[in-house]
Amino acid sequence: MLISLLVPCYNEEESLPILYEALCKVMQECSQYNFELILVNDGSKDKTISVMRDLASKDSRIRYISFSRNFGKEAAMYAGLSAAKGDWVGLLDADMQDPPSLLPQMFEMLSADECDVVATRRVSRKGEPPIRSFFARRFYRLINRFTDVEIVDGARDFRVMTRPVVDAILSLSERQRFSKGIFAWVGFRTKWLEYENVERVAGETKWSFWKLFLYAIEGIVSFTTAPLRIATLTGFILSFASFCYLLYYFIYAVISQIWKERPGYPSLLSFVLFIGGMILLALGIIGEYLAKTYLEIKQRPLYVIAEDNKKDKDKEQDEK
Ligand code: UDP
Ligand code: MG
Repeated sequence: MLISLLVPCYNEEESLPILYEALCKVMQECSQYNFELILVNDGSKDKTISVMRDLASKDSRIRYISFSRNFGKEAAMYAGLSAAKGDWVGLLDADMQDPPSLLPQMFEMLSADECDVVATRRVSRKGEPPIRSFFARRFYRLINRFTDVEIVDGARDFRVMTRPVVDAILSLSERQRFSKGIFAWVGFRTKWLEYENVERVAGETKWSFWKLFLYAIEGIVSFTTAPLRIATLTGFILSFASFCYLLYYFIYAVISQIWKERPGYPSLLSFVLFIGGMILLALGIIGEYLAKTYLEIKQRPLYVIAEDNKKDKDKEQDEK
């Protein structure tokens, strides 16, 4: 049986050798399986690609794919999954935050045939800025409330999947990918393994607060159209309220016989501004979905490959 281990890498020249060592240990420990290592270089700006070439020249189990520029982790994962030939595919980060030492246990769980996916979640967010944890928690609450799929708080991309799961993920051809949602959407019997947060061994995280914020919006827009309904609902409530107010004012004016002009600039202005704000919000929400549709419709490839050490071999095999 072949297991593919897939690692997306962006500026990981320091972590990659450490990870490779750790993976070698795992592969030795689980010698009953055959392994292939798929390293995806997501347009790194450091020497990650030379590290990959080096490793590949020494170890024939390694396949590396190098993008022409940075396309993001989602694209890197998709490229790796498409290239993987294994009966099982393991997915992990390059920075040792997804401890390779958990892999043997994950393989064991999968071989017991009681599940199709062994996924992991962090039970603590130790070493993470509190503000980031706070917003992350709010995000999970929000997304689970508004979408049909359940996204587990602290769920990592770190997981081992059987072939049917991988094929299901690959069959979702959308360009704007939100892996956590996609994993949840495809379903299958999933077992969760919990572990404490580990800090990355070297290099630094590629996630700024702003990037995370955009990622959160991406997640929501990808998996639910509820915000569109919120816009409709708000519009409805507002117009109903203003109608009531108008009615009340009309009756009041008739009863009290005051037709004379009243100074009301501040209230008028705030009301107009409020409505204006609501309209802009609604337009923004519509814009998000429209932009998504636009990007999907262009049908651009998810990534461009500049270098692939086993592509030609693949072709030869296919021709045979
Ligand atoms: N990564 C990638 N492309 C990117 C950003 C990140 O392939 O544009 C990889 C990165 O090399 C690492 C994994 O995705 O293996 C997770 O990234 P990171 O450790 O920066 O994220 P964090 O653990 O802080 O969420
Ligand atoms: Mg990390």
